[in-house]
Amino acid sequence: MNDSLMRVYFDYNATTPLAPEVLEAVVRAARDEFGNASSVHHFGQQAKALLDEARSSVALLISGDPSEVVFTSGGTESDNFALRGSAEALEPTGRRHLIASAIEHEAVLNTVKALARRGWRTTILPVDSTGVASPDRLRELLTDDTAIVSVMHANNEIGTIQPIAELARIAHERGALVHTDAVQSVGKIPVDVRALGVDLLSLSAHKFNGPKGAGALWVKRGTRMQSILTGGKHERNRRAGTENVPAIAGLGVAARLAAGKMAAESARVGALRDRLEAGILNGVPGTVVNGAPHLRVPNTTNISFDRVEAESLLIALDLDGIAVSTGSACSSGTLEPSHVLRAMGFAAHRTQNSLRFSLGLFSTGEEVDRVIEVLPRLVEKLRGLTRKPVSA
Ligand code: PLP
Repeated sequence: MNDSLMRVYFDYNATTPLAPEVLEAVVRAARDEFGNASSVHHFGQQAKALLDEARSSVALLISGDPSEVVFTSGGTESDNFALRGSAEALEPTGRRHLIASAIEHEAVLNTVKALARRGWRTTILPVDSTGVASPDRLRELLTDDTAIVSVMHANNEIGTIQPIAELARIAHERGALVHTDAVQSVGKIPVDVRALGVDLLSLSAHKFNGPKGAGALWVKRGTRMQSILTGGKHERNRRAGTENVPAIAGLGVAARLAAGKMAAESARVGALRDRLEAGILNGVPGTVVNGAPHLRVPNTTNISFDRVEAESLLIALDLDGIAVSTGSACSSGTLEPSHVLRAMGFAAHRTQNSLRFSLGLFSTGEEVDRVIEVLPRLVEKLRGLTRKPVSA
């Protein structure tokens, strides 16, 4: 490996580096506050105080109430808890229909499949060519036995933001619960659970400079939920298991930092993303942006490179020190076409020639310049190797 290489990390949607304040909080909690938060003695109460503080910080970030925040091991568990927990609670009502958007993360899509195997009727809500789900289409798909509607707030691959408030209003008119996977929006744009009008919201610390393995499900007060982990009475009987206090303390600090920096950071990162995007579109012929240009989280751009296999470009960029992604972290490393781009109606070649650039807290203008400088040469080289005609 070339150690003098300038390393550029533009894969913040996969995961983010820890903020220094978060690292400090995690280390301090692991070292000094090792008690079990359920213990009544001093050590336990110290740990419990950290959980309380983190709960308040997370609640503040999403304008919820601390009592509505259930800590989990991250986005995947929160999504599982939201869908399985509400499905189990609602089964006695006779409602056994679930609707989820076509571009959900695997954490939702595979949970939907699991519920289908358990006898649930499941319907996929399509998206348009910019990745946006239509409220009118949702209205058509809802039935009197629809129990749950799950639509993500911002998409991890293209960054598109969904009209959650409108979708939630329509779903509620038919008596369905609404879950949103806000793993890619929390910490990046203002998220207000009341304004969104949802019942359940998933978030994950490692997407906004917190530690991996900590997240939360916000459960609106009064929502019927069944715990999916059986055991002790932790998290007010909603999630059994001794809390991961250091990681949750880190989540709390990350939430506080994100709330404090939101306006300035989203403007700064948005400007960098726009400069990167313009630089690529101008510098590399045969490129096009995927997603809704004006309805995206500010840190993400997903770009198709005509006549280039994304996987090859990703590897070439990595050899030049630049880390990006072909889409969702789970499917990178495989040649699977993106289910998100497929759902947007793109032809096979376009689902396999797209790269995601996602920026964040430590991204700089210098890094943007480096990518703009390196990309045209790499793309030209790869196109020279394939020599296929330019497709429309
Ligand atoms: N939901 C979305 C939209 C994501 O992007 C991710 C992570 O890639 C997850 C859920 C899963 O979160 P976690 O990695 O915390 O399990």
